[in-house]
Amino acid sequence: MRGVSRGSKPPPAGLTARNHDGTELERVRAHMAQVLPAGAKRKAFRFAAYKAESVKKRLEELFHGKCAYCESLYASQAPVDVEHYRPKGRVEGETTHPGYWWLAAEWTNLLPSCLDCNRRRKQVVPVVSADLTVLQQRMKTGKQDAFPIAGSRAGREVDDILAERAVLLDPTRDDPDQHIAFWLDDDRASGVAYPVSGTTPKVPTVPLAVENTADVAGDAGRTGVSVRGAVSIQVYGLNRLRLVQERARLLQQLRFLEGVFLDIGDVSQSLAILNIEAPQTQLTDATDRLDRLQVRILDQMKLLAEPEAPHSAVAQAYLRDFRKRVLSLPPGGHP
Ligand SMILES: [Zn+2]
Repeated sequence: MRGVSRGSKPPPAGLTARNHDGTELERVRAHMAQVLPAGAKRKAFRFAAYKAESVKKRLEELFHGKCAYCESLYASQAPVDVEHYRPKGRVEGETTHPGYWWLAAEWTNLLPSCLDCNRRRKQVVPVVSADLTVLQQRMKTGKQDAFPIAGSRAGREVDDILAERAVLLDPTRDDPDQHIAFWLDDDRASGVAYPVSGTTPKVPTVPLAVENTADVAGDAGRTGVSVRGAVSIQVYGLNRLRLVQERARLLQQLRFLEGVFLDIGDVSQSLAILNIEAPQTQLTDATDRLDRLQVRILDQMKLLAEPEAPHSAVAQAYLRDFRKRVLSLPPGGHP
């Protein structure tokens, strides 16, 4: 997951489009205010504004065609799922909650999501043990209507949603790097997402592999890792086997580029101090070319961490680490 700013443009027009009964928000307000005969069940409102083309287009621009949670590019044949961060029709585990219907057409509540992050289904996820043995386990992940909170639940339009203290991370409001890290080492846990802790772990502490988010949160609290990170990893399924494999491949590519970068640096240095019978200009020319080659390799590494690149958060984490280890420059500094 990577932080994204929604910018200052007004919300997409489709969200506030009117028909003869007003905007969708006005219509759903009227629908929810209808007094029903005793025992009658309120019909579900058919929300549609969030599916407007203008909404999909803006989300596509902001997130570069990637899922807001897992940073996968949506398959070209699969249309984007416009996801409600706060679920619009019901809330998991809250039988009397009507859902956050007043946020169904609210721009800041909409995110693009892939099917795997959005829908609850069985996935294979890794369980990392203390000796870095990675076992595979099948469990249900996917957000669906989940919206765990640490504060008090907003049940009406007038309630303060900030008082809820949402547990799930929202890449447009939160800085995911404060809560979720990626295991960068070249071992069996390579590419695994794990909750950030105050100390540098020897093995990634992945969330307790259970489907109950309260248990995941309790376990994270006890082990001193980010509760929001742990629950988000579990609910969005950020350690689905395919995702971990893709991140591991990306890390392998970065390690390869780093190796070539370092080798070129070594050759360049030994050339510069060699006492050979070549004219100084030829020698300088050779080392200059090698230095330029190093810059091109660095550019290639940085491309993998650009906002457009799939799984760029893991590449960003690798580059931060690389700068510390190899370039000794502050993050964001140019070599
Ligand atoms: Zn996803």
